This record gives sequence, structure tokens and C-alpha cells, in this order.
Amino acid sequence: MPLFIFFLSVFFVFSSSLAQESLRPNVPVAIVGGMLLDGYEAEPIHNSVIVFEDGRITAVGQRHNTPIPNNAVILDAGGRTVMPGLIDAHMHIDLIGHGEYDDYYAFLNEMERLPEAMPIAAKQMMRAGVTSGLDLGAPFQILEFRERIRRGEIPGPRLTVSGPWITRIEMAGIPDAYEEVVDSSEEAARRTRELIAAGSDVIKTWAGLTEADYRAIVNAAHAEGVKVHAHLYDPDAIHAALNAGVDVFQHVGSARNPPYDEALVSQIAQKSIPIVQTISHRIWVYPATVEFPERLYDPVYKKDMPADFYADFIKSFENFHRNSYFNDIGRETRNAVNSASQFIDAGAYMGVGTDAASPLNMHTEAMWREMSALVESGMTPIQVISAATKTNAEILGQIDELGTIEVGKLADIIIVDGNPLRNIEVLDYVDIVIKDGGVWYAERAAYGTVTEIGHGF
Ligand SMILES: [Zn+2]
Repeated sequence: MPLFIFFLSVFFVFSSSLAQESLRPNVPVAIVGGMLLDGYEAEPIHNSVIVFEDGRITAVGQRHNTPIPNNAVILDAGGRTVMPGLIDAHMHIDLIGHGEYDDYYAFLNEMERLPEAMPIAAKQMMRAGVTSGLDLGAPFQILEFRERIRRGEIPGPRLTVSGPWITRIEMAGIPDAYEEVVDSSEEAARRTRELIAAGSDVIKTWAGLTEADYRAIVNAAHAEGVKVHAHLYDPDAIHAALNAGVDVFQHVGSARNPPYDEALVSQIAQKSIPIVQTISHRIWVYPATVEFPERLYDPVYKKDMPADFYADFIKSFENFHRNSYFNDIGRETRNAVNSASQFIDAGAYMGVGTDAASPLNMHTEAMWREMSALVESGMTPIQVISAATKTNAEILGQIDELGTIEVGKLADIIIVDGNPLRNIEVLDYVDIVIKDGGVWYAERAAYGTVTEIGHGF
């Protein structure tokens, strides 16, 4: 397709209020010839075929035993790997990797410019192959954004959101609309019910809560069938959350603390409480940036942002080693060697989340960096891939629809250039991204049949 027609079609798709369905090709699509990792911890399926139509997968198998409908469009996945769309089980779609939170929120003028920030993060996630994400902490402006993505008006991952978090301690430097500050368990329960009524899909708890608070929140949330995700570092808080029946432990093991005692780790593993460590965002991202600061100056960021956003973003990286986020990086890094592998060694139920886009932890790279850090900490590539797809879908309570490539599920599929079982970091090279049966793609993948049925951004 000539370039100008491509840009015209992009303009058309994203400037009009089209339903999600209209982004789907009106014919079956067959992805043919790639190595398929279906989301399970299992052997790959070589020379695979996946057929999808009207947003759902209709056939999965090998070329010799999987019929392809006559009218299907063929996507040739030869030389590449096909797998479920990645799910980020801890991210922030209001953030773009800016070096200092205080300066960023000042730049956003509290929240006035949030509507410009969120689409930047959303398209970067999509290009990175992240087709679903759990946003753990944003003002309720995110609800409208979640719906715009759902309707297919803008490129972005399918969002599950907490909205504002519940805390006893106010977080410094953040606008009030991000948090519900409580000072009793009764108030915590009431705020939980209010958040769910207002649209929260999950409850996120932050800091300073007592065991009674956690219990009140868990009871109120579970009465509505909603899970509670707790931000946890401190061992006392972990004990309290454990006793109260919190559903998902976020951040534990991410090296902010020295390693936990074995009995605590073993109890969490025995109870199969999902763990989302977010280990990479300081401990791996910081040295990677010291070693190769050029990563901050990828021209894609300039292209993705309004000029003043980009100028402020770049300015925040001057002397990034002095940014407040990395104040304690020396001690954290020394702890990381032991604590990142604690839960893995204990056999805990591992999910994958990035805390992107915390400082320097851009959505464009966060998922593969976290997955690589987990491999370095003791998981095998197939374990991490299954954790980032199947397990994360289980954590979100969406395993009936997402997380594996199976007949009947939504067609959320990515095609990656290379073999992630050999080198997990090839997940940096996502060629084609399919969400909800709509074929989206990154610029460099604009070739072949994708241009006939796909979209771009
Ligand atoms: Zn977070």
C-alpha cells in the first residue's frame, strides 16, 4: 500500500468513533508457520496454524492437521514465534517514565493534562505486545479512557483498573484524586464499597493499614466479587495482609527490603497467593541506564509525545542518578541478589508486573525487562511466558477469555521476531500485535498482508 493511503487509513480509524468490531477484518485470519507458545508451560507447537474470526480463535494446531478456511487472509509467521498477548499485572497508564514524580505531576498541572498522557502510554504498551493491563492507581478519569480503548477509538491494552488506592498514609507529591486516605477500618470498608460502585475493577491498597483495615477492605470487596491487590514491602504489613486474606501481593521480593524469613515466604507459597514482584523497575532498569543512557533517547519517544511533553521528559533525565527515585539504589541492588529469587525458589505462584512507567521504566520496554529479570532470578523462559499470559489472566479473573491460545478465546496474539525460549529479550522485537481479533501493528511490521487488514499508530 502506498504510504499516503496507509496514513489516510490510520487517520480514518483513529479519528472516528468506530466500534471495536469494525477494527476486525471481516474475513477469517490464519497465522501460519510460526513456533507457537500457547501460554501453557509446555513444548512449543512448530509449524503452527491459528485461525481466528470475529475476534475469537476458531482453530489451533499444526499445518498438516489444521484446515484453513478458503477465504482466510494468511499472516505468514515463518521464522518467528507466536504467543498470547502479554498481560502486565501491575502498571500505570498515566505514567510515561518521567524521571521525577513531583515534576511530572507539576507538568501535568495536577491532572489537567492526564488525557494527553494516557494515550502515549497506551500505544507504547500495545507496540510492546501488551494487550491487557492492570492499572493500579489512577484518578477516575481512567474509567472513560478504559471505555475509549474498549470501543476501539484509540490503540491501547484492555484495561482492568483500581482507580484511586486506599491508604492511611498520604503519598507526598501526588494529586489528591489518586488516593483515598482513611483513618479507620470502617472508613476503609466504606471507601471500598464506594470505589467499586464508582467503577473500580479491583481494589488497590497502599500503606499504613492495620490488619483490621485489610480485613474490612477484603470483606467489603469480596462481597462484591472484587479482588484486593496490596502494595507490600514491610514484613509486618505482609503478615497483616496474609491474615486478612488479601488476594494478590504486589511488589514483595522486589528488593526494597532485605530478604524475608523463610517461614513467611513458604507460607505465601503454600497458600498459592499470587505474587507480582515488579523486580526490574529499579534494580535492573537503573544499571541498564547507567550502562547505556542512550536508551532514554530513542527517537520513538519524541515521535510519541507532544513537543512540550517530550522536552520535560528529556529534561528529567539529566543527572538521573540523583533522582529521588534512586536514592537508595545501592542498598536495594545489594539486597536484590537474594530477595528477587526468594519467592521463585520457594515455588510461589508467580505473576508478572512492571510498575511501568515509573522513572526510566518506559512501557516500550518494561515487560521484556521484567521477564528477563525473572529469568535471571531463576525462572525458565517458558515459565515466565506462561506467568505473563496464563497466570496473569488467572490473577485478573479473565482466564476464560484471555491468557492462552485456545479455541473459543479472544484473539489476543503477538508475533515476535526470534526465539524467546533461547533469549527472552527477543520480546523486545514484537512484529505484529492482534487484540480482540483486530490486527494492529508497529511501523516496522508494515509489510505483506498486514497492511490490507491492519491498522497502525
Ligand atoms: Zn505501582
